[in-house]
Amino acid sequence: MAKTPPPILSAQARAEASRAGVVARQLRSSVKESIAKGESSIFEAINDPRKSIQRMRVSELLAAVPGIGQKRCEHIMAKIGISPSRRIAGLGDKQLIALRNELLVSKSSTDYGTLIVMSGPGGVGKSTITSVLRDHPSFWVSISATTRAPRESERDSHDYFFISDEKFDQMIHDDEFLEWAEFAGARYGTPKAPVNQWRELGKHVLLEIEIAGARQVRSADEDALLVFIAPPSWDELVARLTSRGTDSPERREARLALAREEMAASVEFDHILVNSQVEEVAAQLLSLATSPKKRD
Ligand code: 5GP
Repeated sequence: MAKTPPPILSAQARAEASRAGVVARQLRSSVKESIAKGESSIFEAINDPRKSIQRMRVSELLAAVPGIGQKRCEHIMAKIGISPSRRIAGLGDKQLIALRNELLVSKSSTDYGTLIVMSGPGGVGKSTITSVLRDHPSFWVSISATTRAPRESERDSHDYFFISDEKFDQMIHDDEFLEWAEFAGARYGTPKAPVNQWRELGKHVLLEIEIAGARQVRSADEDALLVFIAPPSWDELVARLTSRGTDSPERREARLALAREEMAASVEFDHILVNSQVEEVAAQLLSLATSPKKRD
C-alpha cells in the first residue's frame, strides 16, 4: 500500500510546533530535575495532569529518582511488569501500587491527596461529574460496597462492589468502612483501606455519597472537604426529578420530599457548587482539591 505523505506544514505552523516542543521539553526536564534533587516525588509527576508530563515514559522519571539510576530502573520495571516504552498515562492501578511498594515511599515524602465528599439531591448530576473526574489523573473515585442489586448498565467492582447483607455485616464488624448508611432500602458503604492507600499516593479521593454518610466522614476526618452540588434552581430540579413519566404520584412526591430534605442539609457543607455546567464543576472541584479551603 502507498504510504500517506506527511502533512505539509506552513512555515508558521512549523515554528509554532517547534516552540510548543521546546516548552514541553523544558517542562519535562524541570520535573526530572526536581525529582532528582529530591524536591518532589515521582508520584507528584504521575498525578500531574499536564499532557506533556503524562506522555513521559515511566522509565525516564524512575531513573531520575535519587539512588535509582538506569540499571535499577530497568530491574524495577521488569519486576513490576511495566514495559520500557510505557508512558505515565498508561500506568495501571496495580502497577502504580507495586511501584509505590517498590520505592517504599514514606508518608512524609508524598503529600497526601485531599479527601473530597460530594453529596447533593438526586437528579442534580453527581454521577456525570464523577465520570469526568474518574478520567482525571489527579483523582481516584472511591468504589462503594452496596447491598442493592446491580442495574442493567452497572458492572461489579467498577460502579459498586455488589455484596450480600451477610458480607456487609461482616465488613461493619471488621471496621472496614470509613462510613456507611441506609438509603432507599439498601445499605451503602465506603471501604476505608483503598481511600487511605490512594491518598498516600497523592491522589485526591472523591466519594459520591448521601448526606448521612457525609456527616460520618466529617466526624471521622476533620480535614475532609465536604462539597454540596446544587441545581441551578429548585424548578429545574423538580423538572429533572419528574421527567420520568412512569412514576406514580406517591413516588413522585416521595422523591421531591427527599430532595427538599437533601437541599436543607447544604448548609452543613464546606462549599456549595451549582451544577450549571459539568466541566465547570469538575474544574472547581480540582481547584478545591489542590488548595483545600474549608469554607467559601
Ligand atoms: P444509587 O443506588 O442511585 O446508586 O445511590 C443511591 C444513593 O446512595 C446516592 O445518593 C449515592 O450518592 C449514595 N451512595 C453511594 N455510595 C455510597 C456510600 O458508600 N455511602 C453512602 N453513605 N452513600 C452512598
